[in-house]
Amino acid sequence: MPTSPDPDRYLQLTLTRRESFTEDIAVLHVEAPEPVEFTPGQYATVGLTVDDLPRPLLRPYSVIGTPNDTHLEFYLERVDDGRLTPLLWDLEPGASLWMRRKVVGRFVLDTDVTHHVMAATVTGVGPYVSILRTWLSRSEPERRDDRFLVIHGGSYARELGRYQEELTEYAATHSAIDYVPTVSRPHENPDWVGERGRVEDVLRKHWDAAGFPLDDTALYTCGHPQMIDKAQAIGQRAALPDERIHEEKYFVERRTTA
Ligand SMILES: Cc1cc2nc3c(=O)[nH]c(=O)nc-3n(C[C@H](O)[C@H](O)[C@H](O)COP(=O)(O)OP(=O)(O)OC[C@H]3O[C@@H](n4cnc5c(N)ncnc54)[C@H](O)[C@@H]3O)c2cc1C
Repeated sequence: MPTSPDPDRYLQLTLTRRESFTEDIAVLHVEAPEPVEFTPGQYATVGLTVDDLPRPLLRPYSVIGTPNDTHLEFYLERVDDGRLTPLLWDLEPGASLWMRRKVVGRFVLDTDVTHHVMAATVTGVGPYVSILRTWLSRSEPERRDDRFLVIHGGSYARELGRYQEELTEYAATHSAIDYVPTVSRPHENPDWVGERGRVEDVLRKHWDAAGFPLDDTALYTCGHPQMIDKAQAIGQRAALPDERIHEEKYFVERRTTA
């Protein structure tokens, strides 16, 4: 049996539900034993105890939730030859996960501006969901005067799952929020009536249509490294200053040998 991690450093989370969007994309709903402090957009270091390892096997995951709540969500993609995600896919409700107590990261709302262009591939929308849930949890007079454009892409619509529904609802009920789900393989999604193409293909069009003033806008990019590089190049071509371009790269692409 693996030994339990130090309770001063780790919180023991309980898996309450796994919600599968596809075979490889799911949300783990977890319950923490105490409210979790974080700034929306940050990530937690989460994992499992594994028999032959002296310490838990951990990876960073964007936290979805509102600060000081005990319910958290992790929107995950299974990496077939990965070490942790295949183990997470085998968990049943009631299983324990371990999370470093300190939730960290600098991918948070840029409060120097009020217009926010947020680009995400699939699971990379997590930080924006936390930012928007928290923004909306404040009463109207307490809210900053922000405007948000969220562009959320996947190969297939079903990968966007409950977050597409949630963000569509926010956009329908709040004029400060625009949400553009986009699917890059529309021929495999015959019922899809939304935007078509990769995030970086449709970003400029929707950013222009939103009419955000360049001197009061930040660009956020989260998820797949290729999208991040291309979206950032669009931001640079638009002459957005470097300090207004933010990124959370979920992994580094593996080099393939010829
Ligand atoms: C700040 C931060 C936040 C993150 N948040 C999330 C999140 O909210 N949801 C999420 O699903 N992932 C997130 N990740 C990625 C996550 O930490 C792991 O890298 C991923 O879950 C794979 O872990 P693994 O142990 O299964 O694979 P590993 O054994 O760690 O990795 C195996 C290989 O797969 C590559 N890889 C990792 N992820 C992918 C991917 N998606 N597609 C293709 N190759 C990949 C790695 O670069 C590595 O070469 C985040 C990463 C960072 C740095």
